[in-house]
Amino acid sequence: MNKTRDKRFKKDYSKRDILEYIKGVSKYLGHTPSFREIDDFPGPSARTIVRRFSYWNAAIKQAGLRPQVKQLLTGERTYIRENWRKMTDKKVAKKLGTTSEVIKYYRMNFDLWKNKKGTARSTFRKQAIKLYGESCESCGVKFCEWHHFVPRSKDSNDWCILCPTCHAAVTRRLVKVERRSDIHSKLAPFVQKLYSGIKFNSDNGSSYT
Ligand SMILES: [Zn+2]
Repeated sequence: MNKTRDKRFKKDYSKRDILEYIKGVSKYLGHTPSFREIDDFPGPSARTIVRRFSYWNAAIKQAGLRPQVKQLLTGERTYIRENWRKMTDKKVAKKLGTTSEVIKYYRMNFDLWKNKKGTARSTFRKQAIKLYGESCESCGVKFCEWHHFVPRSKDSNDWCILCPTCHAAVTRRLVKVERRSDIHSKLAPFVQKLYSGIKFNSDNGSSYT
């Protein structure tokens, strides 16, 4: 019984047929078909494909397509690191067969910043250190972090250099610092009070009065 049923209904697709079919569907959709999407088309079903290739993504890879995964693959991460300065996110995304949002998300996560001109975040950081020195502007400790009063501002008046302690006091909203003058009028007295036992050196011109 089973044998006759198989003969009547089961169509035999070769692996090659299946790969050509996946490529065709991908071309029609404009992206890698998902397991669910493939069943909207006439041809081998998703289950048949998985039976033949063991894994859905194995078939996708053999068809020369990029699996639909949100995570970037190792080679793709290297590609972004090597090309993010030379190419736009859109171009990199097209090359990798993903969206520019994915590229941007990766860059932001790994501190690969660029503005329209392609200047990196580190250039601004250097500029901030050049302007305000390497020591904390509040307490004079020589280990600096770059703080923005206005998030992501490119105006140097919105920046200051702080040590990790002072920076933490500001970012945790223990002291409200909205402009540069607040460092001396609000932040410095607060930190001094907090660590009254510690003597800060103020050779960079900070004053607490
Ligand atoms: Zn400090």
